This record gives sequence, C-alpha cells and structure tokens, in this order.
Amino acid sequence: MVQATPGSALAVWCQVERHHLANLNQGDGLPIPVEAVIWDLDDTLVVERTAAEAAMAATCRHAATVLGVDPDQLEQDVFDEAKSQWSSLPTIEFARRVGIASWEALWATFEGTGEELGDLRAVRLSHRQTVWREAIERQITVDPYTVEELSERFTAERINRMEAYPDAEPVISQLQQKVSMAIVTNGAPDTQRAKLSLTGLDRFSLPTVVAGEIGIGKPSPEPFLLALDQLGVAPEQAVFVGDSVTRDINPALNLGMAALLIARHPHDPGLITLPEGRCSVISSLHAIHQFLSVPVIRNQ
Ligand SMILES: [Mg+2]
Repeated sequence: MVQATPGSALAVWCQVERHHLANLNQGDGLPIPVEAVIWDLDDTLVVERTAAEAAMAATCRHAATVLGVDPDQLEQDVFDEAKSQWSSLPTIEFARRVGIASWEALWATFEGTGEELGDLRAVRLSHRQTVWREAIERQITVDPYTVEELSERFTAERINRMEAYPDAEPVISQLQQKVSMAIVTNGAPDTQRAKLSLTGLDRFSLPTVVAGEIGIGKPSPEPFLLALDQLGVAPEQAVFVGDSVTRDINPALNLGMAALLIARHPHDPGLITLPEGRCSVISSLHAIHQFLSVPVIRNQ
C-alpha cells in the first residue's frame, strides 16, 4: 500500500482531519440494529489520497528525468498550484458544493449533464495546463508540449492506481444478501464512476449518489436523504460508514442514522473519539459485522 508523503499537501490534510477526531467525545452505540448500510467511497471503499500522491510522485519523477527539476519540490508545487488555481476559477462555488478536490480536477473529464459540469469541461484543459506550467516554472521554463505531456501522464498514472481496499469487496459481498446497501460520494461524476468501474466494485450495482450529479454533496443532508429514499429505509434503519467525521459521521448522526468511522492506519490516534450517539470506530470493514444486528457468516 502506498503511503502519504510526509509534509505533502495531502498529508497536511490528513493531520487536520486527525486533529478533528482527537477533539470529539467518545460514543458507544453497540450494537447497531440496521436494515441498510450506506458507504462513503473515497478512502472508505477505494484508495484515494495515497493513490493520488503516488500518481503525482511518479509523474514528477518522470519530469525530473526530462526537465532536470527537483521531483519532490515539483510534487509539492503542483499540489499547491492545483489548490490555488482551482480556488480562483469561477466554477469554485460548484466545485466546493459537490466536493471536487483540487487534485481530482487534474484528471477529471467532468462528463455529465448540467450547466455547471459544462462550465468545468470548458476550463479543464486550460486549468490543468496552467497548474503544471506554473508549478514547473517555479524551477525552470517549460514548453507547452511538455506541459501537456506531463498533464496527460498524471491522468494515466492516476487511472492506473484504481484500487479498492482489500476488505471492500468481501464485506459488500457478505452483506449483499443481508442488508440493502448504497454509496454516497462527493466528487465529479466521471472520477467517482471510474473508481467504481475500474476497481470492479460496480459489479454489485449498488445505488450510488454522486454529489456532482445532484448538485450538492456531503455534509449537506440531501445526498444522504436521496440514498435513504432509494433504499426505502428511514434514517434510523441505516448505518453510514465513512472516513470523515465532518462529511460522513456528523451529518449521518444528525439525520438519525447510526455511523461507523473507518480509521485504517495504525498511526491514526489511538484515542480516536466520536460524537455522542450511535457511532463507533472500526479499523477494518470486516468489523462492521459485530455492529450489525443481522448475523453474517464470514467466509474467511
Ligand atoms: Mg471519504
């Protein structure tokens, strides 16, 4: 498994999220009698942050060979430029509303219906070229051909790193006949649908609410309510499983759902604490079985 680069923009983001966890109160919530499980996608079912970091590192190592730049510096500069350029676009209000991360915009196609996705499609190529050019030119001047080549290479490197967590498929498979399930994910339609198809998780045909398709994302209640409606269950009958306290756990609890925070890494704080309510922390998706009232016989 690839790891976040210490000191990188993504690693800093992780630290902020962990800080959040350490400042909340412990919940109990055992067991959780539910009829439905709703999953977050990024860093719950599929690898996102570390995959993006690894793709960026590989692209910047290539840039070092053709341009002689410092790859570590370039990696940091591309993430920085992506964030600042993304924030300066007129599309940023929509991007924030549906939770499209700045580094995702470097490979997203923004396919889909609606004016706002159309606006993103119109700027996507010039945006990512600006990001790469500005980042490289912090070290050396660069020609447009090389900028586009590196931009395309990052897209390929990211797509080549589509990976579901090893526990995702077996757990979904075990639960499939026991409870109804859905996915609620922030992000652009094409990137999130690609993660499902390229990891093979789409074979379960779970109802999937993508924020970029409905125009609003977590932590707003709408995507949660839409998934509950598609499953035909009340909030009290469902548990939400996600890796973010702010985008997954708190809004799910506020709606009356139960919630499980997935914290996979041993360096996550041992004192992870949660809000009051029907919620708990798990370090593997396999642990979900002990929180459900539905008996599930594991095959492994
Ligand atoms: Mg997530």
